[in-house]
Amino acid sequence: MSCLFCKIASGEIPAKVVCQDEHLVVIEDINPAAPLHLLLIPRKHIVNTLDLQPEDDVLIGHIHRVAARIARERGVAESGFRLVSNNNAAAGQSVFHIHFHMLAGRSLTWPPG
Ligand code: 5GP
Ligand code: ZN
Repeated sequence: MSCLFCKIASGEIPAKVVCQDEHLVVIEDINPAAPLHLLLIPRKHIVNTLDLQPEDDVLIGHIHRVAARIARERGVAESGFRLVSNNNAAAGQSVFHIHFHMLAGRSLTWPPG
Protein backbone atom coordinates (compact mmCIF):
# COMPACT_ATOMS: atom_id res chain seq x y z
CA MET A 1 0.00 0.00 0.00
CA SER A 2 1.39 3.37 -0.95
CA CYS A 3 -0.49 5.69 1.38
CA LEU A 4 1.75 7.86 3.57
CA PHE A 5 -0.64 8.01 6.52
CA CYS A 6 -1.36 4.27 6.39
CA LYS A 7 2.41 3.77 6.66
CA ILE A 8 2.69 6.23 9.54
CA ALA A 9 -0.27 4.60 11.31
CA SER A 10 1.32 1.16 10.96
CA GLY A 11 4.72 2.43 12.11
CA GLU A 12 6.37 1.68 8.76
CA ILE A 13 7.28 5.36 8.42
CA PRO A 14 8.34 7.11 11.65
CA ALA A 15 6.57 10.12 13.08
CA LYS A 16 6.44 11.97 16.38
CA VAL A 17 3.51 10.12 17.92
CA VAL A 18 1.62 12.04 20.60
CA CYS A 19 -0.83 9.27 21.43
CA GLN A 20 -2.55 6.36 19.76
CA ASP A 21 -5.17 3.72 20.30
CA GLU A 22 -6.70 0.93 18.25
CA HIS A 23 -8.63 3.41 16.11
CA LEU A 24 -6.30 6.34 15.53
CA VAL A 25 -2.84 7.79 15.78
CA VAL A 26 -2.05 11.39 16.69
CA ILE A 27 1.22 12.84 15.39
CA GLU A 28 3.01 16.16 15.23
CA ASP A 29 2.77 17.79 11.79
CA ILE A 30 6.17 17.80 10.06
CA ASN A 31 5.62 21.40 8.90
CA PRO A 32 3.76 23.06 11.78
CA ALA A 33 1.53 26.02 10.99
CA ALA A 34 1.04 26.93 14.66
CA PRO A 35 2.90 26.30 17.95
CA LEU A 36 0.65 23.27 18.40
CA HIS A 37 -0.09 21.46 15.14
CA LEU A 38 -1.18 17.86 15.46
CA LEU A 39 -2.72 15.48 12.95
CA LEU A 40 -5.40 13.07 14.14
CA ILE A 41 -5.35 10.16 11.72
CA PRO A 42 -7.69 7.15 11.79
CA ARG A 43 -5.97 3.83 11.16
CA LYS A 44 -8.68 3.02 8.62
CA HIS A 45 -7.91 4.28 5.14
CA ILE A 46 -10.64 6.78 4.29
CA VAL A 47 -9.86 9.26 1.50
CA ASN A 48 -11.69 12.27 2.91
CA THR A 49 -15.12 13.41 4.12
CA LEU A 50 -16.65 12.37 0.79
CA ASP A 51 -15.57 8.77 1.40
CA LEU A 52 -17.22 8.38 4.83
CA GLN A 53 -19.61 5.48 5.35
CA PRO A 54 -22.36 5.15 7.99
CA GLU A 55 -20.15 2.76 9.98
CA ASP A 56 -17.53 5.52 10.30
CA ASP A 57 -19.80 7.73 12.39
CA VAL A 58 -18.48 6.42 15.70
CA LEU A 59 -14.89 6.73 14.52
CA ILE A 60 -15.31 10.38 13.56
CA GLY A 61 -16.96 11.14 16.89
CA HIS A 62 -14.14 9.35 18.69
CA ILE A 63 -11.53 11.46 16.87
CA HIS A 64 -13.28 14.64 17.99
CA ARG A 65 -13.44 13.47 21.59
CA VAL A 66 -9.73 12.61 21.54
CA ALA A 67 -9.10 16.12 20.19
CA ALA A 68 -11.05 17.58 23.11
CA ARG A 69 -9.01 15.53 25.58
CA ILE A 70 -5.73 16.67 24.02
CA ALA A 71 -6.91 20.30 24.03
CA ARG A 72 -7.52 20.06 27.77
CA GLU A 73 -4.21 18.26 28.39
CA ARG A 74 -2.27 20.87 26.38
CA GLY A 75 -4.00 23.79 28.08
CA VAL A 76 -5.63 25.22 24.94
CA ALA A 77 -9.23 24.19 25.60
CA GLU A 78 -10.20 27.54 27.05
CA SER A 79 -7.93 29.77 24.97
CA GLY A 80 -9.05 28.09 21.75
CA PHE A 81 -7.99 25.68 19.08
CA ARG A 82 -9.00 24.75 15.56
CA LEU A 83 -9.89 21.28 14.28
CA VAL A 84 -10.08 21.16 10.49
CA SER A 85 -9.96 18.79 7.57
CA ASN A 86 -9.13 19.75 4.01
CA ASN A 87 -11.09 18.05 1.27
CA ASN A 88 -9.70 17.86 -2.27
CA ALA A 89 -7.59 20.27 -4.22
CA ALA A 90 -9.07 23.73 -3.68
CA ALA A 91 -9.08 23.19 0.07
CA GLY A 92 -5.44 22.14 0.02
CA GLN A 93 -5.69 18.43 0.74
CA SER A 94 -2.29 16.95 -0.03
CA VAL A 95 -2.51 13.57 1.72
CA PHE A 96 -5.52 11.56 0.58
CA HIS A 97 -6.11 9.71 3.84
CA ILE A 98 -8.55 11.59 6.04
CA HIS A 99 -7.00 13.51 8.91
CA PHE A 100 -7.91 16.36 11.21
CA HIS A 101 -5.49 19.20 11.84
CA MET A 102 -5.48 20.45 15.42
CA LEU A 103 -4.04 23.96 15.56
CA ALA A 104 -3.48 26.11 18.62
CA GLY A 105 -1.02 28.30 20.44
CA ARG A 106 -1.54 31.52 18.48
CA SER A 107 -4.44 33.65 17.31
CA LEU A 108 -5.98 31.89 14.32
CA THR A 109 -7.53 34.20 11.77
CA TRP A 110 -10.89 33.66 10.14
CA PRO A 111 -11.64 33.22 7.32
CA PRO A 112 -8.64 30.97 6.68
CA GLY A 113 -6.51 31.48 3.59
P1 5GP B 1 -3.37 18.26 4.10
O1 5GP B 1 -2.56 19.21 3.24
O2 5GP B 1 -3.62 16.98 3.35
O3 5GP B 1 -4.58 18.85 4.71
O4 5GP B 1 -2.44 17.93 5.33
C1 5GP B 1 -1.33 17.10 5.24
C2 5GP B 1 -0.40 17.48 6.36
O5 5GP B 1 0.52 16.42 6.54
C3 5GP B 1 0.43 18.74 6.08
O6 5GP B 1 0.17 19.70 7.11
C4 5GP B 1 1.87 18.25 6.09
O7 5GP B 1 2.76 19.16 6.69
C5 5GP B 1 1.78 16.94 6.86
N1 5GP B 1 2.74 15.94 6.45
C6 5GP B 1 3.05 15.58 5.18
N2 5GP B 1 3.95 14.60 5.18
C7 5GP B 1 4.21 14.32 6.49
C8 5GP B 1 5.08 13.38 7.13
O8 5GP B 1 5.78 12.59 6.52
N3 5GP B 1 5.08 13.39 8.50
C9 5GP B 1 4.31 14.25 9.22
N4 5GP B 1 4.38 14.16 10.55
N5 5GP B 1 3.48 15.13 8.65
C10 5GP B 1 3.44 15.17 7.29
ZN1 ZN C 1 -4.18 5.51 3.99
